[in-house]
Amino acid sequence: MGLFGTNGVRGIVNEGLTPEIALNLARSLAVYLLEKKSGTGRRTSPTVILGTDTRISGMMLKSAVVSGLLASGIAVMDVGVVPTPSLQYYVKNHSGVDAGMIITASHNPREYNGIKLIASDGTEFSRESEKVVEEIYNSKRFMHAEWSKTGEICFEQNCNEEYLAGILAIIDRKAIEKKGFKVVTDTGNGAGSLTLPKLMSSLGCKVMALGAQPDGTFPWRNPEPLPDALSEAAALMSGSGFDLGIAQDGDADRAVFIDENGEFIDDEIMLAAIEKYILHKEKGPVVTTVSTSQRFTDIAKDEEVDIYYTAVGSVDVGRKMVEVGAVYGGEGNGGIIYPRHQVCRDGAMAAALVLEMLAHTGMKASEIKDTVPTYFNEKVKIRVPDKNLKEVMAEITKKVTDEKSKLGYTETEKIDGLKLWFNGGWLLIRPSGTEPIIRIAAEAKNKEDASKYLEIGEKYVKAVI
Ligand code: MG
Repeated sequence: MGLFGTNGVRGIVNEGLTPEIALNLARSLAVYLLEKKSGTGRRTSPTVILGTDTRISGMMLKSAVVSGLLASGIAVMDVGVVPTPSLQYYVKNHSGVDAGMIITASHNPREYNGIKLIASDGTEFSRESEKVVEEIYNSKRFMHAEWSKTGEICFEQNCNEEYLAGILAIIDRKAIEKKGFKVVTDTGNGAGSLTLPKLMSSLGCKVMALGAQPDGTFPWRNPEPLPDALSEAAALMSGSGFDLGIAQDGDADRAVFIDENGEFIDDEIMLAAIEKYILHKEKGPVVTTVSTSQRFTDIAKDEEVDIYYTAVGSVDVGRKMVEVGAVYGGEGNGGIIYPRHQVCRDGAMAAALVLEMLAHTGMKASEIKDTVPTYFNEKVKIRVPDKNLKEVMAEITKKVTDEKSKLGYTETEKIDGLKLWFNGGWLLIRPSGTEPIIRIAAEAKNKEDASKYLEIGEKYVKAVI
């Protein structure tokens, strides 16, 4: 496996992710930036914005990263503990900034940490740029600046303030304030603890803030905001007069929601409901991954806008959104991208949009699910230990194509695995990028059809492995 996974460099601290890796990754980014700069004739040294989430290994890794950058002659601006989207917003908004580095393992358990690279426009590094950095990392083509040209470091404390101001500037504050919403926030001691409760107060909400002390031991719950981890927040909400519960993952790029009855709102439903709300305000293309619910597709078709599909992963969604000038995008795990603010997953922007939607439509949080179509999902994974997944997929694709008339699907999508569209549903057969596994997922308007599509997928995978 390469240095970069789906979401940057990740690993268990001092096992898969050591200070040596952090140091050399920083030196590799430095060489990448210096080589890019030498083509522009600019004289000043490149600047990198650096931040961490609340993990206790953050300072250890940050120290190694700072050392690697300064030794290479890069200027560093340390923004402290920030949500990933807060750092991305800062990078995007300041023209002198060449890149960002955020030290975070997002939703992973306590023992993990990671490093993600941010491009100068605030979006995640593209796969191509990651490849260039990885080549430098593997070849150890590092640079040592002479003593008088080593980098300088400065500290910026205003990153989170700027980020929240950016959200407040594009949301209908008055409409939300008028409602006087009562909300529960559960930021799970992650980086969102520094921003979400504050944003809610700025929008005139009464806030009950749970897990709002930054603490990298995560004493309140796991950093991943799954329904099980949010049982306390949900129990507190039920029958207590709150309008909405909002929980974020460890680096606050994702948000999930609980309704006024303490019921978890499905991520796919929320992604589609916000899509519908936004498309009523402004028409334009939308982008999502091949694994996202049919609800997203149906709404794009109802609103008569173009829809684009990408491989699974927010990097691909974000890049495509820039390319096609999308007005909305995201993936069905609480990752909502609203480009009027910035082209990245953004847990605070998502929370503000949901409140605006409730304020403008007058509906309750429990009614959100009624605004989008109902679908049923099935999924399964099959281990394929002894075969090349690419060859397996090629064989399946050939068989499925040969038997098209028998299977009765209408269209295919091959950007990530193989997706077959049926009337009113789909089947996705997708190889994992990191494990010897093929994932099969199906969705349909009723449970029987979803099971039927899943069985078709299982049959074809099993026939060739
Ligand atoms: Mg995250």
